[in-house]
Amino acid sequence: MNTHSIPHVVIIGAGFAGLEAARGLAKARVRITLIDQHNHHLFQPLLYQVAIAGLLPSQIAQPIRTIFRKQKNLTFQMGMVSAIDVEQKYVKLNGSIIAYDYLVTAVGGRTNFFGFADVEKYGYQLKDLETAVNTRNQLLRMFEQASHTADVEKRKALLTFVIVGGGPTGVETAGALAELISHVMKKDYPRLNLNEAQVVLLEAGNSLIGFYPAELRTATLKLLQAKNVNVRLNSKLESFNGQFVRLADGAEIETQTLIWTAGIKAVEVLENLNAEKASGGRIRIAPTLQLPGHPEAFVIGDAAFLLDEQERPLPMISTVAIQQGAAAAKNILRLINRQALEPFHYKDPGLLATIGRNAAVARIFGISFSGYIAWAIWVFLHIYRIIGFRNRILVLFNWAWDYVFYDNQVRLITKE
Ligand SMILES: Cc1cc2nc3c(=O)[nH]c(=O)nc-3n(C[C@H](O)[C@H](O)[C@H](O)COP(=O)(O)OP(=O)(O)OC[C@H]3O[C@@H](n4cnc5c(N)ncnc54)[C@H](O)[C@@H]3O)c2cc1C
Repeated sequence: MNTHSIPHVVIIGAGFAGLEAARGLAKARVRITLIDQHNHHLFQPLLYQVAIAGLLPSQIAQPIRTIFRKQKNLTFQMGMVSAIDVEQKYVKLNGSIIAYDYLVTAVGGRTNFFGFADVEKYGYQLKDLETAVNTRNQLLRMFEQASHTADVEKRKALLTFVIVGGGPTGVETAGALAELISHVMKKDYPRLNLNEAQVVLLEAGNSLIGFYPAELRTATLKLLQAKNVNVRLNSKLESFNGQFVRLADGAEIETQTLIWTAGIKAVEVLENLNAEKASGGRIRIAPTLQLPGHPEAFVIGDAAFLLDEQERPLPMISTVAIQQGAAAAKNILRLINRQALEPFHYKDPGLLATIGRNAAVARIFGISFSGYIAWAIWVFLHIYRIIGFRNRILVLFNWAWDYVFYDNQVRLITKE
């Protein structure tokens, strides 16, 4: 068989969007080259659990080669794509050139520090396994240092943890960290007065989880406050030098730990792509998910910018990425079969965010609710959506153990 007569689809990125696009083409007569800089797919919604010592990195990631073991039309190549040439139809990878007939760019995003170079230097972030483990190490190191610090003010500063950004990631991290302190660290550090510890959540706007309905924003604030999280709305960060957070109103918070969860922007490889860009450098795409002017090139997931039927930008969340992956695969098949392409319509499955043990907020089928039921749905869905049967069992076991014994099991400080 001459494989070169078979259309070659290159997919950059094995995140939620790229994975779904590749799966959507599993039965198609195409050759797929799936490229990722990492050898694993990562379940980013649970990264904060790695940071708060709740889960191991290996429990929220799965090797890409394992996922596609049975998909015979797919080859995986690990490496960082350094350039995309949509005129000549090739991508540059590890010094060589890979030509394509169809391209799916699903490269996600990276943390946007909005020009705060000092925050980027001294702060912590949650974007991949490495940054989550670094954050975990920092949190645990602070407890160790506090345990042999006699000076009260110094100890309080070591035990002050500032999270910037009141979106779902900031909210989830703040709630989980507050519980780690009150339920778990209390037992590990019986001689430390953990009333001296505090979790501060800074949000520049006037509410948390801005794109959720008002009743859920209010419920989230109350649930976090009930867990002793110090939520500061309308609080703009001005600087962080590794010792002090300074706010725009002149207030200062002494801390060595700032976790930045406040924004996402496009990855480097999109900077040189000759395409119209929206805020954060995301690529403006056509409703069919194609790059305008290049019908064979699709951009999907967090890398893409598209308005919904109400002219609102689609959010950068996993459900949008997954649905766009499936839709891009179908449109590639339509292109190959010379059929008319279909525009993408996002089917909103609802909103969900957890704020710790027994506490979450949800909006499903247009109904808003919070508390234990929302939390139970969150647990079920996250276990269901993690890739790999083994990971599901391990996460279920870990969470059940934590739930019964109030004991996060991954309190390891590892070498960075
Ligand atoms: C901490 C955190 C918590 C989140 N929580 C939630 C949540 O609770 N619910 C929710 O729905 N969404 C959540 N999200 C958002 C969700 O994870 C993203 O919307 C989703 O991952 C986007 O999917 P994607 O495929 O576009 O990008 P990604 O999943 O980011 O995948 C992009 C892939 O491209 C690869 N890549 C990038 N550049 C290159 C390159 N140049 N060469 C090769 N490979 C490259 C990356 O390694 C990565 O594997 C969260 C995100 C974060 C960071």
